[in-house]
Amino acid sequence: MSAPSLVVKFWGVRGTIPAPGPDTLRYGGNTACVSLQLGAVATIILDAGTGIRVLGKQLAAHDAPIYLLISHKHWDHIQGFPSFPPIYQPARRITLLPALDAQMARALLTQMDGVHFPVRGRDLPSLRLRSWRAGVRELAGLGLTVTRIAVNHPGGAFGYKLTYQERTVAYLTDNELGAPPQIRVNTPAAFAAFCQGADLLIHDAQYLPQDMPAKRGWGHSILPHVLEMAATAQVQHLVLFHHDPDRSDDELDRIQAQARAWLSQHAPAIQCTVAYEGLTFAW
Ligand SMILES: [Zn+2]
Ligand SMILES: [Zn+2]
Repeated sequence: MSAPSLVVKFWGVRGTIPAPGPDTLRYGGNTACVSLQLGAVATIILDAGTGIRVLGKQLAAHDAPIYLLISHKHWDHIQGFPSFPPIYQPARRITLLPALDAQMARALLTQMDGVHFPVRGRDLPSLRLRSWRAGVRELAGLGLTVTRIAVNHPGGAFGYKLTYQERTVAYLTDNELGAPPQIRVNTPAAFAAFCQGADLLIHDAQYLPQDMPAKRGWGHSILPHVLEMAATAQVQHLVLFHHDPDRSDDELDRIQAQARAWLSQHAPAIQCTVAYEGLTFAW
């Protein structure tokens, strides 16, 4: 059997802040980080939450180029970066692809200012910063198509769609599908069109209806809205992501059961998994 051409793996599935402890052992407490391994060609990393540390320990043993795409600048998406071992490898090629503007990539480095972290970003040996357009062109040369969509999140953020050898992964973290007007940049229909037919949809489902209205406008979705959008988009597999730090393993078990029950009634072709550290998809 030949090696899979695309492997997607979850290294951090939590939102807001790391949540280690006895209640989060099974799903994990690290913040957002997902890798896409393109055969032996390159590793694409989505977000640099604290999950990126363990991924980096594995990647440090190889020398394939690394491309880092950041959804936005909130702490739970950048805070693992200073502890990502490959950034200290002098000959390693690491490319930062800023979707929003150069500021988004610089946020990774400005936290390494010698005050908040002892090593300075400007002293890192191997980083390259590409404009979005140049970065996308470079990835196309590797056979990976990347497109982006602005999501509904305070301060602005982007979701990504990545297609490699006919498999499509959509990554929409930190997106409030039922957003109030002040943070709404796209409608659920637009997100469904963006993800249409994806093999994998990774979507923020931090909240439940009972968390509202207190958390309305915070930029995260409630479960029913995510299920409805996935059903409209007719994705193959929905992965619920960016769990609230206070959500225990047992509560996440119940959320998965609830999501699967709804889908079996309304969109039985769609599989659904609550993201956990180590969850892997390979084609
Ligand atoms: Zn977040
Ligand atoms: Zn955020």
